[in-house]
Amino acid sequence: LCSGPCEFVLGAAALTQLPEADRPEIAFAGRSNVGKSSLINALLWRKNLARASSEPGRTRELNYFNLGEGRLWLVDLPGFGYAKVSRTQAQEWQRLTLRYLRGRVNLRRVFLLVDSRRGLMDTDHEVMDMLDSAAVTYQIVLTKADKIKKTEADVVRAKVAEALKKRPAAHPVIRLTSAEKGGGLPELRAEIYQLT
Ligand code: GDP
Repeated sequence: LCSGPCEFVLGAAALTQLPEADRPEIAFAGRSNVGKSSLINALLWRKNLARASSEPGRTRELNYFNLGEGRLWLVDLPGFGYAKVSRTQAQEWQRLTLRYLRGRVNLRRVFLLVDSRRGLMDTDHEVMDMLDSAAVTYQIVLTKADKIKKTEADVVRAKVAEALKKRPAAHPVIRLTSAEKGGGLPELRAEIYQLT
């Protein structure tokens, strides 16, 4: 995925700033601290690629990365569920994201990251509501698998699978990953590759 230049392109604070929809696009969403930047970096064998998007000022933007020599846009969506963010700011993020999800014709899939120790939280359900209403396929990626036992992971996975049954746009495959140990990453890479 990262043969050739694989770089941060721009941070869009408004839909008018999005790059051309001239190639397939995938997006990563998740609560802040879920391990989103770590996972993006690990997926792309980089140490700091996703760091650009966590710089001050960039965290509320849609951050675009160019992958596979222009074959794919990877978008790092703003983290949600910050305790510190005001209600107005949270609503603003929600409006921008919803309009993005509804209008972005080349968006193939959203990977919704969920901490494997916590499972689905209320805010994840809110995001899934948006994705279902926008009819954008999304896939749950459980993060930080190295922090829990396999039996615990099985329980979380079963719970998530049950919750997804009621959700029309959810992809049935749930990936268990560890950015730290690399678990689940080859499978996720293969899946992304198939979307290009
Ligand atoms: P973001 O806010 O979603 O971008 O989260 P980060 O990628 O910055 O990660 C948040 C914290 O979780 C950091 O302290 C990471 O080191 C840690 N973390 C992220 N991924 C993993 C993982 O796979 N395993 C473990 N053990 N820790 C992780």
